[in-house]
Amino acid sequence: KTALVWLRRDLRLADNPALTHALARCERVVPVYIHAPDEEAPWQAGGAARWWQHHSLTALAADLAAAGSALVVARGESLPTLRRLIQATGAGECHWNRLYEPAGIQRDTAVKQALRADGVHCESHNAAMLFEPWTLKTGAGAPYRVFSPYWRRCVPQLAEVPAPCPPPAHLPPLPSGLDNLPIEDLGLLPRIRWDQGLAGTWQPGTAGAEARLHAFLDTAVRDYTDGRERPAEAGTSGLSPHLHWGELGPRQVLAAVREACGDVTADGAGHFVRELGWREFSMQMLFHFPHTPLQPLDPKFAGFPWRADDGTLLRAWQCGRTGIPIVDAGMRQLWHSGWMHNRVRMVVASFLTKNLRLPWQQGAHWFWDTLVDADLASNTQGWQWAAGSGADAAPYFRIFNPVRQGERFDADGAYVRRWCPELAALPNKLIHQPWGAKPAELAALGIRLGRDYPAPVVDLQTSREEALAAFEQIKQQD
Ligand code: FAD
Repeated sequence: KTALVWLRRDLRLADNPALTHALARCERVVPVYIHAPDEEAPWQAGGAARWWQHHSLTALAADLAAAGSALVVARGESLPTLRRLIQATGAGECHWNRLYEPAGIQRDTAVKQALRADGVHCESHNAAMLFEPWTLKTGAGAPYRVFSPYWRRCVPQLAEVPAPCPPPAHLPPLPSGLDNLPIEDLGLLPRIRWDQGLAGTWQPGTAGAEARLHAFLDTAVRDYTDGRERPAEAGTSGLSPHLHWGELGPRQVLAAVREACGDVTADGAGHFVRELGWREFSMQMLFHFPHTPLQPLDPKFAGFPWRADDGTLLRAWQCGRTGIPIVDAGMRQLWHSGWMHNRVRMVVASFLTKNLRLPWQQGAHWFWDTLVDADLASNTQGWQWAAGSGADAAPYFRIFNPVRQGERFDADGAYVRRWCPELAALPNKLIHQPWGAKPAELAALGIRLGRDYPAPVVDLQTSREEALAAFEQIKQQD
């Protein structure tokens, strides 16, 4: 018997239930990747994510080859492509791991119905979640909308999460004569090569994912609670893009944390696993509220009086030229490496939506195109949270002061100095607010605001008051 294993965002051999089940049931297994970005519209992978995908597929193809198989790569609509491959291989089964985004669910449901009608045995599996989005509901049977009670419900069940299954030692060879597209032909790499920063930061693929996981467990996990708040340090795992593409699954991460630390509910390890819980929570929010990538969960925010901008402020934010050092450092880290520290993501998102008063969707779109870990559920949740329109949102009136945030979490200015080198000579007391210096003081350091580094594009105090006034307007709708 032959089975197709349709790979999408589960680009790994270990703990891949679609692959394991197919191997348990069939002698021949054909791993297939079909490039069909239109089926994910309007959320096809952005520029940085496509770079990642190219390298991740390349790494997977090498891993499959080392195990005796190969990756069949095709392009085109999924259903006709699967049907063509089923015919070419004589497959009677098709296995895949589930996606939870609205477009993926719709496409997969249609494919399953059509193939079953053709007489093909179709099975979907869970590779990506500790708890699938429909498994946990409140006492009243509704989806959770607040993280803390959701996570309290999850914690006791962590012990029951199945152990990850090991990678197959050998895979059966592919049948001969199958068409196979070179990964280069998918056109995932940028034509203008802006990707040196990504290449210098990341190693997409399972080997890179495991190296990051073990480096984190060997060093940072114990001090995670404090370390995760210091953007200048490698205090977090850096696993987000690996998890997004499924080069590593959450069951594997949980098992590795348990092995390294014992208890997965306390101390640094417990805090880290709780962050994985945010990933789960975000996915269940997207599953139950599929309109939220574009519309606010709290409907009164639909009428929010955003600032009329001709694009100038948005561009300043995107390019890391707002004149607010911690914001600019974050936006430049994002552009260079495809990633930004979580604390700084919260600061730049608050600055965009509150001080600049630009719609959170504009920020979410920029992140979507520039993050290597761009993930519809986590990105939507992060932006709605920051804008105050989400389920578990910070109240709108709690507006981050980027200067205080910088002073608190980047006290010695190391993060700002790294990403805004033109400010490196400033003393610590000025590094987060260069406009607080006397011009002569700056001149003595060879810095002129507006020439070497922008003057702030908005006044923090005035823009804060304007944001609060705007919020008062929509609050009347309560
Ligand atoms: P660690 O601190 O090591 O955490 C471990 C894992 O837990 C992460 O890899 C991630 O999978 C998960 N996680 C941690 N924090 C969160 C969180 N707040 N929400 C959901 N999952 C979390 N994360 C994405 O993966 N993709 C996104 O597109 C994304 N967009 C964001 C947008 C905004 C405005 C904000 C505020 C946050 C966003 N996040 C997003 C969440 C978070 O910033 C990243 O997951 C985290 O910075 C990744 O770094 P890490 O792997 O070192 O995290």
